[in-house]
Amino acid sequence: MAASQYFKREAIFLNGSWRQANSNKSIDVFNPANGQKIGYVPNAGEEETREVVKAAKLAFEDFRKTTALERANILRKLHDEIMQNQEALAELLTLEQGKPLAEARAEISIAASYLLWFAEEARRVFGDLIPSPHSGQKLMVSKQPIGVVAAITPWNFPFSMIARKVGPAIAAGCSVIVKPSELTPFSGLAWGVIAEDIGLPNGVINIITGEAEAIGHVLTRHLDVRKLTFTGSTRVGKQLLEKSASTVKKISMELGGNAPFIVFEDADLDKAVEGAIAAKYRNSGQTCICTNRFYVHASIYDDFVENFTKETKKLKVGNGFDLDITQGPLINEVAIEKAKRFVEDAKQKGGVILTGGKPYLHSLETGYFFEPTVIANATKDMLFSKEEIFAPIAPIYKFESEAEVIALANDTDYGLAAYFYTQNLGRSFRVSDALDYGMIGVNAAMLTKVEAPFGGVKASGLGKEGGSQGIDEYLESKYICLGGLEA
Ligand code: NAP
Repeated sequence: MAASQYFKREAIFLNGSWRQANSNKSIDVFNPANGQKIGYVPNAGEEETREVVKAAKLAFEDFRKTTALERANILRKLHDEIMQNQEALAELLTLEQGKPLAEARAEISIAASYLLWFAEEARRVFGDLIPSPHSGQKLMVSKQPIGVVAAITPWNFPFSMIARKVGPAIAAGCSVIVKPSELTPFSGLAWGVIAEDIGLPNGVINIITGEAEAIGHVLTRHLDVRKLTFTGSTRVGKQLLEKSASTVKKISMELGGNAPFIVFEDADLDKAVEGAIAAKYRNSGQTCICTNRFYVHASIYDDFVENFTKETKKLKVGNGFDLDITQGPLINEVAIEKAKRFVEDAKQKGGVILTGGKPYLHSLETGYFFEPTVIANATKDMLFSKEEIFAPIAPIYKFESEAEVIALANDTDYGLAAYFYTQNLGRSFRVSDALDYGMIGVNAAMLTKVEAPFGGVKASGLGKEGGSQGIDEYLESKYICLGGLEA
């Protein structure tokens, strides 16, 4: 743990310097596994945000002039620095977020791999040469960095969500202002330490913590912020979209989900159960692409439910630092209350609790643990049919036909990820086409790959992160009509 203390900074990182809020006020940070205070971060507001926009704008003017190769090398250095400190960063992540240490290590590693991906992409930002309809002209299109980027990130993947934004922003030649969640700010502030250690120019990465609304107010309405990238709830995303309208920024929104997981009668049942466990319980169900609704064909419903429940009972709940743990705590008391509400509502409407169903009482600690929960006989009038669960609760619905389950799966405002299991090739294509989602897992439960575009449709968001599309969000096309070329 000593090494993780090096990255734990109780200060904001503005223009290459560490400092407190102007008001000297702070926000306490707690370990969700035991409710104990682990530190504080500055409670900055509008004033500091305006200062940081000014610094980021100045830094951008120089940084935009760097070559793609120079920026690729910066990203490689960031990658190496993160991987050399993987264990310390993972410990810090588990301390403030609660996830099992193995999952925290994986998050640090995937974050680093986004940087490597964008180091490679940085050198492939090509323009176009377009045939002109008029003689003596060349029509050219070049790509330019968009400018100062504001990145607002959530608590559930507090390190890797920043990598998906900082990686392409730096690759494109932008400067960035990151606002991590007050619930898990240390993993965000650690990016300041890493930036400092690799000698990144001042103001290229800035990390600010504090009053979310006040900081958001300035970032959305400031003309010098040319891009807002947000990962978080649909509720806050909609507010930020509205506020950004007055300054017509480029926007990316990675928002909430309500993922269906369909098991057809022709699925490999063992693989479907294995995938179902992975797609439900990672990060204790606190993942935007976590399954919210399991739909299982009536002919295999009982078998699936039995096997899935048996596997769920093997999960081990507890402090993420304990070695045999698979399920850490939920983030706070509000999350526990929400989980209880989902279970009570389902019970009243005929749901059958096969395992779990209540907060988990850890023997020594008093953290926010919830039992992995399986609810059979789920119906569409239950609250979790429409709302994002964000807890280890697995409702299982029964269906009879392909057409019926496609309609059920699409009957939501969200459209982030969907999964289905089948061994029928025709059905794989047919159902993939019919599902209104940004990402589809066919016989696959782990979707996130740096090489592929991550993002949703409908109320799940706008734009993509990762893949070859990820960098476009940070670039503007500029068209140049070069005339007078006749002899
Ligand atoms: P959230 O409450 O929307 O918060 C996200 C971020 O926005 C935090 O930094 C938060 O700061 C900040 N924020 C809150 N209110 C704000 C305001 N009025 N103005 C500016 N910023 C504001 O979401 P969350 O609870 O942290 O994260 C969970 C949600 O994120 C889920 O819905 C999940 O599905 C979604 N998510 C989506 C993806 C994806 O890729 N699609 C990935 C991960 C998570 P404070 O925390 O300091 O208040």
